[in-house]
Amino acid sequence: MIKRFLKAAAILLITAAVVYAAPVRPYTEHKTYFKGNDYELNVYKIYGRRDGNTMLIIGGVQGDEPGGFLSADLYAGIRLEQGNLIVIPRANLKSVIMFNRGVDSDMNRLFIDNTTNTSNDQEVVKVLIAYMKEADIFLNLHDGRGFHNPIYINEHRNPNRFGQSVIVDTDAYKCGGNTLNLKSMATTVLNSINARIPDTDHHLTYFNTKTDSPDTPFKDMRKTATWYALRHFCIPAFGIESSKNIQSIELKILYHNYAVNEFMKLMDIIPENPPIYVAPAVLENALITVNGESLTVKNGDVIKIKKNDVVSVKHIETNYERGISCDILGFGNLNNIGKEIPVTYSTKIVFRKDNAKFAEIAVEVDKDKHTAVHTAAVEQQASAVAPPASAPRTIVEQQSEDNKEYIFYVAINEKEISVKPEETLVTKTGSRFKILRLERYGKDTDLPVNLRGWVPRNVTVNSGDDRGYVFVVNPSDMITRWATDKQKRTYPVTVESEGKEFVRFYIKIE
Ligand SMILES: [Zn+2]
Repeated sequence: MIKRFLKAAAILLITAAVVYAAPVRPYTEHKTYFKGNDYELNVYKIYGRRDGNTMLIIGGVQGDEPGGFLSADLYAGIRLEQGNLIVIPRANLKSVIMFNRGVDSDMNRLFIDNTTNTSNDQEVVKVLIAYMKEADIFLNLHDGRGFHNPIYINEHRNPNRFGQSVIVDTDAYKCGGNTLNLKSMATTVLNSINARIPDTDHHLTYFNTKTDSPDTPFKDMRKTATWYALRHFCIPAFGIESSKNIQSIELKILYHNYAVNEFMKLMDIIPENPPIYVAPAVLENALITVNGESLTVKNGDVIKIKKNDVVSVKHIETNYERGISCDILGFGNLNNIGKEIPVTYSTKIVFRKDNAKFAEIAVEVDKDKHTAVHTAAVEQQASAVAPPASAPRTIVEQQSEDNKEYIFYVAINEKEISVKPEETLVTKTGSRFKILRLERYGKDTDLPVNLRGWVPRNVTVNSGDDRGYVFVVNPSDMITRWATDKQKRTYPVTVESEGKEFVRFYIKIE
């Protein structure tokens, strides 16, 4: 039964060897036909962790049957441990939108041979038929009138009503050298479904429309999807009906789910429950207010504000519902969503899924006039114990007695110079400045040395170690909140150990 999918997989592998790597199971493929059309058709192929049988689920072939299309819709988002699903939740989108059985025609009467019809409905039907070819079993989900019952009880519960049933075109169908025993499959499923439904009035019944029989009262069924699938593709095909006479939409969906789940069980198609999602988070957009005015921003955007403008992240649109936080670096705490924060210096808004950053927005305070701020590095600097521009030097001076054994080595215009802790090295705009090393008692400590306020360009990850980079000295390249003087010309060069700064000197730009 799984031959079709194996063949498809083999073709995929051959292609993959030449062009691209095949996706790793489990995964979902989403394909859209007739995009933007009233008949837009969305198809979801869910590939299980292990291969197996493939079930085609179609909902909404008639637009006023929400139990069916809303149930199908849930399976579009499923993950599978074994087997595969092809889910087409809304086969007739136009009719779903209009809440009409069939706006242009009854789509479930178009599965006929040798049609010359080229309507939109018919174009959709062609696609549906193409997917039957890939399936080992087919379920067509409907909401029917009343309650099917083999014996006439009353107007709503009798042999001509379709609601609450599992429909077959025949008890058994011979094809491909086999007999598809539809009755036995349906009966097995029905026993399990009904065992779950305490209200016996809502039990589903077996309904054979005897589609091909000359005396069938349901000759119309010869134009339906299930009969087509049987005849052309030799796959077991069932109509699943909840009842339009059941008021609760939730119950209608539930009964469909019961049926789909039992058919999946029968076909060894095993859901992954709970579904595992480890795909990276993606920021669709975020809604940010500045002094109450809304902005919709995307990853990498820059917001320009004035000092003390109140910034607030109101909404984060991502592919995850949980585990999302955002941090206005240097302000508030780790999770700043919804907080009204006056921003006093240029910073970043960092978006995280759990511990992983997936997007960031630069916030530039106008008067700083610097634009070449590298993102990753700013995050790191700001999350260190980051004093604002008027950083007290006193802490460093207290430690200076203990720092005598340290000497910094730098190069200015390729000329090596030694600098003692707390000294200020004066250099001119345009000089080439490079940090070489920090020595202790004449030996290289190999500790990272960080010029605060400077971010090496074209570096994706700044380790906080600026040794070896050539910095062409220019005050307009500096992040001025790190300056230790009012003129924004003096910047500390610091060394940390175990997260604590213990020695520094200063570079002053003339
Ligand atoms: Zn229907």
